[in-house]
Amino acid sequence: MSAIEAASLRGTQPLPVSERCDRCGAVAKVRAVLSNGGELLFCGQHARAHEARLRQAAVTLESVGATRS
Ligand SMILES: [Zn+2]
Repeated sequence: MSAIEAASLRGTQPLPVSERCDRCGAVAKVRAVLSNGGELLFCGQHARAHEARLRQAAVTLESVGATRS
């Protein structure tokens, strides 16, 4: 699978459980896609802690994992 294919799949499929918070390593609950194409993952605790900055820096913020019904 090419990197482009992998990236497009990530946009349409739920993240696997192996996706972890970049800060503490807990299971990620929020994914932030940045304007430079970067991507950050946060657990619920760190998503709240960084929410204000994320909303300025991120193009999209979306919930991932088990909290989405
Ligand atoms: Zn965390």
